[in-house]
Formats: sequence, C-alpha cells, structure tokens
Amino acid sequence: MSDGAVNADALRHEVRSWLDEHWTPGRDRRDWLPLVVDAGYAVPTWPESWCGRGLDADTAAVIAEEFRRVGAPGSGQDVHNLWANTLLTYGTETLKRQLVRPLLLDQVPMCLLYSEPGAGSDLAGLQTRAERDGDEFVITGQKVWTSSAHTAQYGMLVARTNWDAPKHRGISFFFFPMRQPGVEVRPIKQITGESHFNEVFIDGARVSAANLLGQLDDGWRVLQTALAYERSVMGDVARGPRRTGGGDHSDLPQTGSATDVDLGALARAVGRNDDPLVRQRIAHVHTLRTVNRWNALRAKAQLEQGTSSPILSLGKLAMSQILHTGAGVQGEILGAEAMLAGEATRGPTTPTSSPSTPTSRRSAAAPTRSSATSSASACSACRASRRSTATSRSGRPIDRRSPADVRRPDASTSHRR
Ligand SMILES: Cc1cc2nc3c(=O)[nH]c(=O)nc-3n(C[C@H](O)[C@H](O)[C@H](O)COP(=O)(O)OP(=O)(O)OC[C@H]3O[C@@H](n4cnc5c(N)ncnc54)[C@H](O)[C@@H]3O)c2cc1C
Repeated sequence: MSDGAVNADALRHEVRSWLDEHWTPGRDRRDWLPLVVDAGYAVPTWPESWCGRGLDADTAAVIAEEFRRVGAPGSGQDVHNLWANTLLTYGTETLKRQLVRPLLLDQVPMCLLYSEPGAGSDLAGLQTRAERDGDEFVITGQKVWTSSAHTAQYGMLVARTNWDAPKHRGISFFFFPMRQPGVEVRPIKQITGESHFNEVFIDGARVSAANLLGQLDDGWRVLQTALAYERSVMGDVARGPRRTGGGDHSDLPQTGSATDVDLGALARAVGRNDDPLVRQRIAHVHTLRTVNRWNALRAKAQLEQGTSSPILSLGKLAMSQILHTGAGVQGEILGAEAMLAGEATRGPTTPTSSPSTPTSRRSAAAPTRSSATSSASACSACRASRRSTATSRSGRPIDRRSPADVRRPDASTSHRR
C-alpha cells in the first residue's frame, strides 16, 4: 500500500471496524500482538516487507489514535520500540529475519549494555573490548546500572573495537546474547530492597559478526539513533494521560502508572477537587505535561526536516520532573492512603464517572482475518520468523512507572508498556 493510496478517513474506518471485530479489553497480549503485527498496525510506517504498510507518519497516527481510543496495545511501535527500530535501521539481514518480528511481539527480553563504572555521562570513554575471532567477536569488560539484565535474552552492547582511533570512532554496536558462559549478572540492591539494576561482568563471551549493527568502529552513530528513540520514549511517557474515551479503565485513576494518572479525576474521585492548593498543584503538572508535549512536537517537526533534534533530550529531563512532581501530587491528593498498594488503595467507591466502554466487546476467540490482516501477509519477515520459535517472556506487570521501568524492555511498546 503506498502513501497516496491511503485516505485517512478510510483508514480510520478500517481500523475501527478491525478493532471492533478483534479487540476485547483485557485480552491476553500474547494472543493480541500477532494480530496487530499481521494487520500491519504495529509499525505502519515501515515497509510492507517488514511488517509495515509504508504509510507516512501523519496517516499512521490515525491507527495509533484508534488503538488509544479503545485502550488496545501494540500499535505505534515504529515510534517507540527502540529495540526493533534500531535493529531495522542498522541490522544485518540475518539478524533482522531472526529478531524483528519477535521484538514486535514483545517476545525478546532486552537490556542496554552502555554504562560502565568509568563511562557514564562520558560514554565514549568505555573500556569494554570486542576482538574479532573468525566469524565472531570476543567481548570482555564490565557494565553497570543495567536494567533488566537478569531477565534479558539480548543486550544492545557498545564495546571498543579500535583503540587507536579517537574515542568516539573506535566503538562498535552489537546485539549481544546474554545467556551464555562468560556473562555474569549481579543484582544491585536498592534501598527499597528491590533490584532493578545490575552489574554485568563479561569475560570472553562471544557474539556473532552477524550481530554487529552498522559498520565496524561506527557504533557511535548507531548509539545516537538508539538514544534518540529512547529519549522520545521517555518524553512520550511523560506527556500524561492519553487514554481518553473508552477502554478498559479502572474506576479510579490512581491505580495507573504515575504518568497515566488523570489527577483531576483522582481529585474528584476522593473529593479533593475543591481544594485550591490541590487545584494549583494539578495545574502545575498539567503545565509541565503541556510544555513537554509542545517540545515533542517541535522535535518531531525538526526530525521531519532532516535535522537532528537536541530537543528530544528535554523529553528525558522533563520525564524525571513530571514523574516526580506528578507522584508527589498523587500523594497529596490521597494522603496517607498513598502509602498503600493493591486493591484496598482504591479509596472511596464513589467515582464521579465511569469511563465508557467500547460498544462492542466481541469474543477474543477465533478472530477472522480482515482485509487489513490479509494485506500484511506479504511481510517476508513474518513468514521467515514464524518458522523459528522465539523464547516467550514471563514479565510481571508494572503498576507504577519509574525511570527504571522506562528502560525495561516491556517499557518500549505500550507504556507499557
Ligand atoms: C533509572 C535508570 C536506569 C538506568 N538504566 C541503565 C541501563 O539499562 N543501561 C545502562 O547502560 N545504563 C543505565 N543507566 C545508567 C545511566 O545512563 C548512567 O547513570 C549515566 O550514564 C550516568 O553515569 P554515572 O552514573 O557514571 O554518572 P556520571 O557520569 O559520573 O555523572 C555524575 C554526575 O556528574 C555530572 N557530570 C558528568 N560529567 C560532567 C561534566 N563533564 N561536566 C559537568 N558535570 C558532569 C553528571 O551530570 C552527574 O550529575 C540508568 C540510570 C538510571 C537513573
């Protein structure tokens, strides 16, 4: 399907019909995501040969809007799935055939092997080395602060391959298999008792040359692409509640992630919406979110003009401030109850309004293939990938999003996730 052949109104009608036929709130992601990918709705701006539909970004936005309207996950991965986007842009054909579809299906637990004890802000100073040995590279070094390393199947790894070149020019970028001898993951215990981060010690572990992304010694370029996706994900997370008009919402908003919470609805639900201080604080968070959204639009406009956008970095900074401030306001609204977790935290059972639900809640069983579904059957990546089996993940749900959550693999697709 080419850009010119797609009318936004027709596409919206098609997507609504498709969702009406296939989507049921609460449907298991593992059953749902293959339908979204096969329909071409997961990455609609990608080429048809890679699970996409070749749409321009503005037209593709219609699909994301319709998914958001009913609260269905899985669309818009061409914007926020940093693993799949980085792989599609720079990966070898072999690696793309192996991993693109499983990544879109959220079947490949991932982590980021960037930071080292002596290379954080100054990442180009990294010391982990990759030495060529036939068709493989041998990796030795130490990484730190690696979110989700303990569950990851692959890590996006930066390592030095040229010690004579200026430091930015001697780095290469790999899709590195984590589950092998020579990789030791040690959890870092946080003050909360949890361990979201790890140290990763790598001693003579191996990675195929086919898992090199971009050119040898040119990994800094790949890294900039991956970081741009990561920043845009973080900025997106911080933009605030987006699930309007339908969907499987809970009756009270505080059970969502810190960024999804509709603070106004929360205040109404617990009878604090007439408190002038609470109103002022909610307005403050709203202002931060709005400015962040405008910055994101500026960044998008710059990217579309082909210029790199330092504004994306603002999204990452904004995320920290919005998460922090928003969580504080939630605490002020809920009072002592904010310290509790679980169903009992739902407060007074007198919500002012229940979110509407989709008019059609069809059975999830045996969905029929729509024309949209069949249109994506041309995806060679899907055909190739279906022949291989991917490891399924056993992630636990994340109730409250933190910056650490954002760097978890499941954070890349729906904020979820
Ligand atoms: C929630 C979270 C999740 C993370 N997950 C991952 C992950 O999955 N994978 C991964 O690789 N890393 C991860 N990190 C690590 C993070 O990206 C690094 O902490 C970051 O690169 C900073 O490195 P550092 O801790 O060594 O701090 P440093 O680089 O030592 O910085 C410490 C302080 O010095 C300041 N500073 C540094 N250089 C300068 C300078 N030249 N001039 C002035 N001030 C300076 C910094 O602003 C900072 O305040 C995560 C971090 C967080 C917070």
